[in-house]
Amino acid sequence: EGATAAQQEAVDVLARQFLLSDERLGEIIKEFRRRMEAGLASDGTMLKMVPSYVVWRPTGEETGAYFAIDLGGTNLRVMRVTLEGNGRATLLHQKFALPEEAKTRTLFDFIAQCVETFLDDHNMRPAATDPHLSFGFTFSYPIDQTSINSGTLIHWTKGLDVPGCVGRDVVRLLEDALLRLGLRVKVAAVVSDTVSTLLSAAYSDPAAQIGVIFGTGTNAAYYEDVTSLAKWKGADPASGEMVVSMEWGAFDSHELATLPFTPHDIKLDRKSLNPREQAYEKMISGMYLGEIARNIVLWLADQRLLLDGRSSTILNAMWALDTSYLSSAAVDDSPDLSAIRQVIEKTLNVPDSTLVDRRIFKIVAILVGERAARLSAVGLVATLTKRAEMLNRPITVAIDGSMYEHYPGFDRIMAETASHFIPESQFKNIRFSLARDGSGIGAGVIAMLATQHQ
Ligand code: ADP
Repeated sequence: EGATAAQQEAVDVLARQFLLSDERLGEIIKEFRRRMEAGLASDGTMLKMVPSYVVWRPTGEETGAYFAIDLGGTNLRVMRVTLEGNGRATLLHQKFALPEEAKTRTLFDFIAQCVETFLDDHNMRPAATDPHLSFGFTFSYPIDQTSINSGTLIHWTKGLDVPGCVGRDVVRLLEDALLRLGLRVKVAAVVSDTVSTLLSAAYSDPAAQIGVIFGTGTNAAYYEDVTSLAKWKGADPASGEMVVSMEWGAFDSHELATLPFTPHDIKLDRKSLNPREQAYEKMISGMYLGEIARNIVLWLADQRLLLDGRSSTILNAMWALDTSYLSSAAVDDSPDLSAIRQVIEKTLNVPDSTLVDRRIFKIVAILVGERAARLSAVGLVATLTKRAEMLNRPITVAIDGSMYEHYPGFDRIMAETASHFIPESQFKNIRFSLARDGSGIGAGVIAMLATQHQ
């Protein structure tokens, strides 16, 4: 109401682009499953389905102190994980923002310095006669894993671009940097955040089968039967299973044939650090949703359908609209949409928005978030139905990341969408659980398991 016919028409165009029917999602799920199977069968496929070398499950009764380094796309966390038994773990941790310099140049030296700061601040630096401290390294970028504690970087994602790392063992790069600081630290395991999120849940919940991240980026890991992992050439583990890190953010990369690309997605992709890669991730995760919305806002403004055609230096710059602003816009129920006014007029520095402008801005936020949540269900359903027998008993999906935790309605829409594709009798067995700090605690759990089994 109050909108012109042209504005209404533009919003209708967006709704058609961003609201995906169940039928369309069903087709994408089928293609997703095909790509999963291909990745389990051979190397060099779209979904890398990386064997993690994690072939154990914790009992929850293990105890001891382990350390972890968690490198996400936005922050680095260093922590001590104390396993207390009974499925309980406590964390002592310190968070460091990744400076631009670390993202593009000095990453591993920066990480080593943070480890040193953490150990010194808490008086835990080992003396020359002490045993090495055992660290789990949560490294959430695609690696070709060659053992539980080695793996070569395939390529960077999520805005990191440090030269000289692709094709090299990231554990060696880290241990060399630690050595340069004289730290007696042993990296017992390197895992993706999905694998550690899964293992953190498994420490307290035997039903945990899948770990998922919806944060800066997105990925999932699950326990796979090794007989289904045809490309696995190593010895079969005694447990008969292995956690596989799917690297699902790469779904539809290079081909761009299956996902519902809009001109706004294509504009983002072209200007990203990794064009045509991580196609699925770019429609789902925190790093990108704000940018998609910014592209839409400019598309509307350029047609004089929003903000009277005005923009600002801030709004014109890539990445100006953080996804957290979409979160607050999507839940703004105040009569004059004052939170949105704040974002448009203060954060983006475009003065004098009208109520209609703000209503359209809210619709944009909701559409981008809703598509992300519905597409997230695609990967989940494909994974849940891969080992359908798992759905006949209780099964826990452990999920971490700001999108899942904070984006309004994301968890509800994702679960609701998934329920359309799984029989009710099985769907009721599924529990989606927020595993806050899961990737840190899980890295400690895996360091413990790796040390126990070496
Ligand atoms: P990481 O994936 O780096 O470990 P997070 O899970 O915290 O870290 O995800 C950070 C991403 O989430 C950033 O891209 C940020 O824009 C986005 N984000 C932060 N807060 C929110 C929020 N309230 N709603 C939606 N997205 C958010």
